[in-house]
Amino acid sequence: MVKLYQKIKMKQLTKICLLVLILCANACKDINKDNSMVGESPVVESNSNFKLGVWITAQSDKSDEDYLNEFEKYSNAGIDEVLINTGTDPKLLERLVPLAKVKGLGVHAWIMAMNRPGDSIALQHPNWYMVSKEGKSCFDTRPYVDYYQWLCPTRKESRNHVLGLVEGLAKVEGIESVHLDYIRFPDIFLPIGLLPKYNLVQDEELPEYDFCYCDVCIREFEKIHHKNPLESKNTSIDMEWKNFRLNAIKSVVNDAYKIVHDNNKRLTAAVFPYPEMADHMVRQRWDKWDIDEVYPMIYHGFYNEEVDWVGFATGQGVADLKHKTVGLNSGVYMPDFKSAEELKEAIILAKKNGAKGVAFFDGPQLTDAYLKTIKAVKESFAK
Ligand SMILES: [Zn+2]
Repeated sequence: MVKLYQKIKMKQLTKICLLVLILCANACKDINKDNSMVGESPVVESNSNFKLGVWITAQSDKSDEDYLNEFEKYSNAGIDEVLINTGTDPKLLERLVPLAKVKGLGVHAWIMAMNRPGDSIALQHPNWYMVSKEGKSCFDTRPYVDYYQWLCPTRKESRNHVLGLVEGLAKVEGIESVHLDYIRFPDIFLPIGLLPKYNLVQDEELPEYDFCYCDVCIREFEKIHHKNPLESKNTSIDMEWKNFRLNAIKSVVNDAYKIVHDNNKRLTAAVFPYPEMADHMVRQRWDKWDIDEVYPMIYHGFYNEEVDWVGFATGQGVADLKHKTVGLNSGVYMPDFKSAEELKEAIILAKKNGAKGVAFFDGPQLTDAYLKTIKAVKESFAK
């Protein structure tokens, strides 16, 4: 080759180089496209890259040895990463990261973002909390459950507080990502499977579950749209008002993205099953965010659906992200499964529909039978 090139004039050489570059670029594009095609990836490498994760909630009084045992159990089952809720405690996270790494697990710093139950700093500022259409604040009037204590995403002080917590976690050495959870509004519609538990009927948007009508949100909305949602005849069909709230969450996410990337980490989030559903139920439109990966909580039992719905919802999200470089990991809820066979089916369906991984909620519910199945499915993907 070298000899041949030496004989060719410089001009011809440039032409050849250009041609080679174009061919290479096209070949690379084809590989990327194939890898993202549903269930048709022939590349072993992409199969073995299928990633398994588990959400866990840390306890500061649990010993290092107990954590090492727990992490080893996951690692032995082929699980690759743990998403850890430390109650937004960077110190506890710093302790756990090396323990997980020793066992070969990546760590994601899971944070309850807009819903901040028992946040000692936020609780000193009652006006940081979201306000319902009835004019009641989450500070003392909580929708559905006592742990629903939501902060306003528009008010500068409350959003900066959340972003400051994100930054604290992003600085922890060795984590893969800051993992946003509850990055949304409270449920204007609860999942249909949960309604009987709360003895509720939700055929329309109900004012006590409709947020954020705080003075800052109303004022900022009026600046853009010159109308007050409190004077609207029917806020549920006021698209600007819905859009304003979708954008308020998006703005917090996009700022979080900059912060974690400035700290050389990635941003991920646990989100509702697929974008239209997230928009409808909790005013969350995650396909429009600046984010690296999403973990939609495709909890079929919450919606009275069957296991095949895990595949359906995964496919919806993957299609909505197809023009972006955002990876999707399907989240599944362990109590929804009646057997290990069903769990196996869900993992396979998620992969077939384009997920790059599956995450399990949550660690303590992974029985030996489930761990054995997870390991077998993972191994079958590597073949
Ligand atoms: Zn507000």
